[in-house]
Amino acid sequence: MKYMMIIGDGMADEKIASLGDKTPLEYAACPNMARVAGGELGRVRTCPESLPPGSDVAFLSLLGHDPLTCYRGRSPLEAAGEQVSLAEDEVSFRMNLATISGDYEGGVMASYNGDGIDGQDAYDIASSLVKNPDFAALMEKAQMRITVTPTFRHIAVVKATDEPFELTPPHDIAGRVIDAYQPKGQKADLLRALQAAARRVLEDHPVNLRRVQEGKLPANAVWFWGAGRATVLQSFEGQFGKKGTAVSAVPLVRGIAWLSGLKAPRVPGATGALDTNYEGKTAAALRALLEEGDDFALLHLEAPDDLSHLGDTEGKAESIRRLDSRMVGPVLDALSASGEDFRVLLMPDHYTLLRTQTHDGTPVPYAIYDSRYPGAPRAFCEAACADRPVIEGGVALLRKLFELN
Ligand SMILES: [Zn+2]
Repeated sequence: MKYMMIIGDGMADEKIASLGDKTPLEYAACPNMARVAGGELGRVRTCPESLPPGSDVAFLSLLGHDPLTCYRGRSPLEAAGEQVSLAEDEVSFRMNLATISGDYEGGVMASYNGDGIDGQDAYDIASSLVKNPDFAALMEKAQMRITVTPTFRHIAVVKATDEPFELTPPHDIAGRVIDAYQPKGQKADLLRALQAAARRVLEDHPVNLRRVQEGKLPANAVWFWGAGRATVLQSFEGQFGKKGTAVSAVPLVRGIAWLSGLKAPRVPGATGALDTNYEGKTAAALRALLEEGDDFALLHLEAPDDLSHLGDTEGKAESIRRLDSRMVGPVLDALSASGEDFRVLLMPDHYTLLRTQTHDGTPVPYAIYDSRYPGAPRAFCEAACADRPVIEGGVALLRKLFELN
């Protein structure tokens, strides 16, 4: 038996007036998701009510952990995704490249990801920042090391303080004046100074001058958030007896998978955006199952979440259609053609609401397709699952997927 978990990040949502009072899942009307929904439908709580809902909490749950006992913040999980290891007495943060419009004092968070800066541009900007003498001097003062990646997401590590850092996720303050959301708590003055220095260094960076000419926003700022201590997770294979691979563009997801003992390859062209390498990611997940002897593969698409944070209603629906036609459909077809029995679990990790442009902890709909008992296709959407009982947590859902109950 082969098992595939397909996650459309944040794709669950409310009914939207501009979509004819349909949710993006309903509006996208996806035929391959409907094949999966011919199987079993249900709901699962991936984010315990006492924790902030998000991919960090949800993926801990979905890969077999209890976020209430093991959640120590987002950044150490992401650091693991970049193979940055933390000592027991260290804390890591995310350092986003971002766009802050207007003067820095009184400036507005115009883009939490520097208008989606990626690849060489992102690497060049972050590299020149950490090499800048003023910024480097502040890093030294803060005893901070930074791992630069070819994305808007970079990893900063410092020695732990007695009190926790109070940091605000930049995607939660889209369009707001930043001043009230600057870092608070111990060492906050240093983090504020680093953020202010970054603005001075990046404002006139050649990459940014070029981006502005191209009609893009400049990645003219950095924003620290998501602090957390080193995290140790239980082995997925030890818990469920399944070997597996996780395919995701997002370091957080690769990090949770890697700390769980799953393989977490980086797929070229996997960007986390609407233009990601759908075919390359799908092929990597299928290869793990059909050629590399894995029992379980996770295939994750970040774009629906990303577009929800941007408030892009049509874009969110389009990302769901692409997930359907370029991931779900090819997975069902390839696994059917392989002659192996298989089960496919399809779901969002959490709701992300276009209305609020942020996450929501409502239990999410899921569908499980079983090649031995394929039912008649029916819509996969929030309403189709609304009357189903709620499973508490990913461990119970995985036990159901693997038929261990
Ligand atoms: Zn998510």
